[in-house]
Amino acid sequence: MRVVACDVLVIGGGCAALRAAIAAKEAEPGLRVALVTKGRLGVSGVTANAHSDRMAFHAVLDHTAPGGDNAWVYHADDIYRIGGRVSDRTLADVLARGGKEAFDYLDGLGVPFVRKNGLADQFVTDGSEFARACYTGPRTALDIEEALLRKFRTLAIDVFEFTAVHKLLVGKGAITGALALDTREKAVDEAVAAFAVPAVILATGGAGLIYGHHVFPAGMTGDGYSMAYAAGAGLVNMEFIQIGIASTRTRFNCSGSMMRAIPRLVNDKGEEILGKYFAGLGNQAAAASFNTLFRKGATWPVSYEHDTHIIDVAVYRERMGGRKVYLDYSRNPAGFSFDLLDPDARARYLSEVRASVGEEERRASPLFRLMEINPASVAWFRARSIDLAKGDLIEVAECAQHFQGGVKIDEQARTTVAGLWAAGEAAGGQHGANRPGGNALLDCQVFGRIAGVNAARAAASARAGDHALLTGEIKRFYIYLAGFASGEMSASNLRRALRRVMEQRASVIRTGDGLASGLARIRELKGLRASVDGRGLSFLLETKGMLLVAEMVLTAALMRDESRGPHLRFHHEEDNVPIARDDDRWCKYIVIRRDASGMSSDVRDPKGAAALA
Ligand SMILES: Cc1cc2nc3c(=O)[nH]c(=O)nc-3n(C[C@H](O)[C@H](O)[C@H](O)COP(=O)(O)OP(=O)(O)OC[C@H]3O[C@@H](n4cnc5c(N)ncnc54)[C@H](O)[C@@H]3O)c2cc1C
Repeated sequence: MRVVACDVLVIGGGCAALRAAIAAKEAEPGLRVALVTKGRLGVSGVTANAHSDRMAFHAVLDHTAPGGDNAWVYHADDIYRIGGRVSDRTLADVLARGGKEAFDYLDGLGVPFVRKNGLADQFVTDGSEFARACYTGPRTALDIEEALLRKFRTLAIDVFEFTAVHKLLVGKGAITGALALDTREKAVDEAVAAFAVPAVILATGGAGLIYGHHVFPAGMTGDGYSMAYAAGAGLVNMEFIQIGIASTRTRFNCSGSMMRAIPRLVNDKGEEILGKYFAGLGNQAAAASFNTLFRKGATWPVSYEHDTHIIDVAVYRERMGGRKVYLDYSRNPAGFSFDLLDPDARARYLSEVRASVGEEERRASPLFRLMEINPASVAWFRARSIDLAKGDLIEVAECAQHFQGGVKIDEQARTTVAGLWAAGEAAGGQHGANRPGGNALLDCQVFGRIAGVNAARAAASARAGDHALLTGEIKRFYIYLAGFASGEMSASNLRRALRRVMEQRASVIRTGDGLASGLARIRELKGLRASVDGRGLSFLLETKGMLLVAEMVLTAALMRDESRGPHLRFHHEEDNVPIARDDDRWCKYIVIRRDASGMSSDVRDPKGAAALA
């Protein structure tokens, strides 16, 4: 067993963790700062693995419209308003104000942001009026991770790789340390690592693996959420999870041009699946379905506020009926004519043409259209043995991509537990129900820096981590681990059962009855004694944590008896029209925490809402 004493412990290895560790070390160079990550640094986690057509990093820069000293206020308004008015406006202000500094920092580290006439090029996302999305291309996140890592390596920060933290230790209401397992060690004695530390920053990312389908890399099990909950911290907005249509094999988000090419959505019987959702529109049905599909390109995640969620409903319902769903680019959907697209859709399409294939081909098939507006995606799939030109289909499903909620933070990135800060996707309250694209990577930088500086300052005036405080906790941890030698259900089976529940009850279609029965099933699974299997103890502890995360998601989703953002609530499974958003009752967020009786939840007004311009 290893016991490590340090002043600040950063848990995670993505862009929030790296920014936090750098900031902590730079704020207090004399402190012992350590970073512990589950996988290999720079390789594991979402930041190092996420890619899409053109990833976004939002920032209000000197040249960003509408210009002037207060341009950031429009950004903060968008975060709050597009988010559905269920986040802290005060955190939106911090995020928006921090954009320029965060951009300048990354730019200074050499992130190759695309420039035009010497200025960072910016594009518009998610219904905002002003272009704020900076980018390097499909690798934006990875470019950020690599630049931060180069800087990080110049500082004297201890790194513990392949080490998964599973428990935060709290004494007299404040953090005293953390307990972890080395995921490479088979023998428990060798695997346990204990950190004696008064200041911990959680930057553990999201929990995509609680769903059967997701675009997260391995290991993203939401440990930060479950550990913070167990330590007594509050979590917020856990019902809001970004979900959208992606390729099941390659995890490529089928947004933008993938939809604007108007492919056929077919099931494994070869039937087009959209028709029945528009049938009520009579002779307008075909045009309505093509235009909805076109608009889906710009509204990728499920959102109540965009009627394009009917596409996600169609895909989800088909899959829940036991069928597979594919995008077929080989021929036009029944009744398709390019002229049925609305004039603004046609204009947008034509503005995106990169390599014209000519009028006749454009009308002939979705493949030609995709080749015309995004030839790179055709090549991308071909390189992964999906040759659209040969008629290969892309199997798709509704996939989880981002957790908008998380461990509730304040403007100083403090959680409600003394000595515990959070940043990045692990943190919550800064985003609402919808998260405009580009704000997650920004959030990691802004709150990562704030968490690092504040944790370091607090640690500088605290007593250093003390081994002696941990002795009892370590003993209890060993006894706890020994209890998993045998049990009622293996960790792998528990995980499978949990994913089934989340996919059936807490994905695109949510109903009161479904959520209640999902919650009951998760509590039943939680009550079973888990047994360790070939995947090891760390896998088992992750799985137990995932059950807690699932319980939080279901609890909040059950309470929110309206629709908002990705939370589509229906009266009945078979309904196509979700229950309406209810601003009179629900411009509020749900905070979940552990109390003596178990999981408690309360509904609160977001902070600073009145400030909306
Ligand atoms: C396909 C895709 C496209 C996206 N596109 C965009 C975009 O264009 N713009 C945007 O702003 N956002 C986008 N996002 C979201 C954004 O990329 C993420 O929210 C962000 O990268 C998360 O960074 P993070 O540092 O919080 O977490 P991560 O990068 O996920 O890092 C978490 C780290 O914590 C470690 N860890 C987890 N648990 C433990 C534990 N128990 N012990 C030790 N270590 C642990 C993991 O190994 C990992 O290193 C996208 C996400 C995806 C999946």
